[in-house]
Amino acid sequence: MEAAAAGISVGSLDAFATQVAACTKCRLSQTRTQVVFGVGHPDADLMFVGEAPGFHEDKQGFPFVGQAGKLLDTLLAEIGLSRAEVYIANVLKCRPPGNRDPAPDEIEACEGHLFRQIELIRPKLVATLGNFATKLLSGKPLGITRVHGQEQETTLGGNRVVLYPIYHPAAALYTPRMLDVLRSDFRRIPELLGRAVAPPPEPEPVPLAAAPAPQPVQLGLF
Ligand code: URA
Repeated sequence: MEAAAAGISVGSLDAFATQVAACTKCRLSQTRTQVVFGVGHPDADLMFVGEAPGFHEDKQGFPFVGQAGKLLDTLLAEIGLSRAEVYIANVLKCRPPGNRDPAPDEIEACEGHLFRQIELIRPKLVATLGNFATKLLSGKPLGITRVHGQEQETTLGGNRVVLYPIYHPAAALYTPRMLDVLRSDFRRIPELLGRAVAPPPEPEPVPLAAAPAPQPVQLGLF
């Protein structure tokens, strides 16, 4: 569906990206080439959240453009999807020097950007790639080895979504067994996308008998 037809303001995501491009909330703003905001359909039903930009992402300004990104594209193609139909972002919008792990205070400084992105895109299914995205968006300390492939309903950016933790493609690049697991978790994505998050039940109408009887109007002359 076209974003405009769906009533989604593409402009607001673009405007937010422009705002985030000038972010100086943490030390990574001093070493980055540029902010890597995210890429894809602004009204995507499926959103992927990775860890942080690497060398190539920092240079080109787009997430998952290196080897891990090529694998992500392949896995998407295998389930009949393309990068243009989904949205891809990271927990951190700026590259940690030397591709080190995100630091807790960097995640804390950056998480508001991700939550606002999710609020604007309103995906139905959010696939977290690896430990950092999974722990942040599930709000639980359980690692990806324990929880991969186990979907759960949650509220993100003010909307109900299905959260789906899967291995990070970079981890699967050189470990064939992990790639098998990632591929089989990926194969469940179409089914999960079809499983709409049930809207909250309508409130029961109050039976007339139970409604308080109207009180006679007191004129209050005396
Ligand atoms: N790994 C990530 O987590 N994100 C990228 O954008 C690239 C590699």
